[in-house]
Amino acid sequence: MIHCHLTKNRRPSRRNWILIGCRRVLSLCLLVSWFCVAASAAVDEPASWKAGVARAVITPEKSVWLAGYGSKRAPDGKLHDLWMKALALEDGDGQRVVLITSDFQGVPKIMSDRVFEQLRQRFKLQRQDVMFTFSHNHCGPRLGDDLIDYYPVEAEQEMLVSEYTDLMVTKSVALVGEALANLAPARLQQGTGETTFAVNRRNNREADVPNLLASGTPLVGPVDHAVPVLTVTRPDGTLDAVLFGYACHPTTLSFTTWCGDYPGFAQLEIEKAHPGATAMFVNTCGGDQNPLPRRTVELCQRYGHMLATAVEETLQGPLKPVSLGLRTAFEMVDLPYLNTVSRGELVELSQDEAGIKGRWARRLLKKLEAGGDFEAAYPYPVHAWRLGQEMLVIGMGAETVVDYALRFKAEFGEGTWVCGYADDMISYIPSRRVWEEGGYEGGSNLYEYGRPAFRWSGEIEDLIAASVHKLVNEVRE
Ligand SMILES: [Zn+2]
Repeated sequence: MIHCHLTKNRRPSRRNWILIGCRRVLSLCLLVSWFCVAASAAVDEPASWKAGVARAVITPEKSVWLAGYGSKRAPDGKLHDLWMKALALEDGDGQRVVLITSDFQGVPKIMSDRVFEQLRQRFKLQRQDVMFTFSHNHCGPRLGDDLIDYYPVEAEQEMLVSEYTDLMVTKSVALVGEALANLAPARLQQGTGETTFAVNRRNNREADVPNLLASGTPLVGPVDHAVPVLTVTRPDGTLDAVLFGYACHPTTLSFTTWCGDYPGFAQLEIEKAHPGATAMFVNTCGGDQNPLPRRTVELCQRYGHMLATAVEETLQGPLKPVSLGLRTAFEMVDLPYLNTVSRGELVELSQDEAGIKGRWARRLLKKLEAGGDFEAAYPYPVHAWRLGQEMLVIGMGAETVVDYALRFKAEFGEGTWVCGYADDMISYIPSRRVWEEGGYEGGSNLYEYGRPAFRWSGEIEDLIAASVHKLVNEVRE
């Protein structure tokens, strides 16, 4: 038996040789196929976008006045909380951008500059990689020196505004840090919807609008009723964020209760329909557009619902995928004033005790008396971001009128977003057409924003458009 056993071990039968051979071949095949799968995972696994979302409540806890109308407006409660939200995106090469959206009325340069500097130091985010947008919500709080001469001067209020602004700088930086920390694989898709409640307020008298609408008489003047939509979806199909835009002033309400006006209601409705998702709003170029008729909470909710419905219809698809790749460009372009205000004009206007012009003149005179002078131009922020081959985001400071969005969308084609109200509140930014027509958005009203002049030079549209074209060429190269 022993002999036999040894013999068997030493000399396998012909059948066993075949079995052993088969096993070895099988093992080799398994090993090779495992290597193939591993290698293909490393080589063929498509690099994907990474996205990170974060949100923070910014409703003031103290009695900071509501912003945007020239009067004392102490808060008397809230309809819902105010929010600041951030979307961080990273492409396959580690290039990152962060978009901040917020329910602020106006973020001034003295505030956003502090945020940009801290983001550069803490997260190595360069200026061209961050856009700080605000919806221009007139039921949001005052910030820094935004519209400083608009409001009666009260020492305690100035202190509260300053304290709240400091808090918001800290909160913005922390929010961006959180969005970056949340970066994880995601798919981006875009589409465009439409809703029609924005009315060109220069070309239609507010008092006439209800009758015109009721009688079916067409309203007049340029509008941009597009609702651009960008979705962020996780690999398991979960909708994580919906960014959407509309060109219209959030001035449905003028009371003293915190809320996000129509964009606030729209975001709440979208988030309710998609639990766990964050809805984010950008005001595209709504400087000369109003939600009309207005001034009731019911109308505000109705406009929010109309906007949310346009977003939902767009989400039904088909949405277009945004391919991978991120390029950014930014510059400050100097926008010249027609004339800076003279000392003589200021002395005369400073006699006005209670009005905006008087406060403005006295503040500027103090600057002259302290040895200061007035700049002949204002540094205007312009962004261009290219997302994949399909999407171009142009970011522009301040209250751009609708002509800018219509122009750049026509010039740069499908997939172009033109966001106003980015980085700095500044003033209205008229197109050449609106500048020539004059009136509220085009005329001599820069003093309302604290600028040392009454009017912009007539060439500002040309200067802005030249800058936009230069930056778009850079990101499309
Ligand atoms: Zn405005």
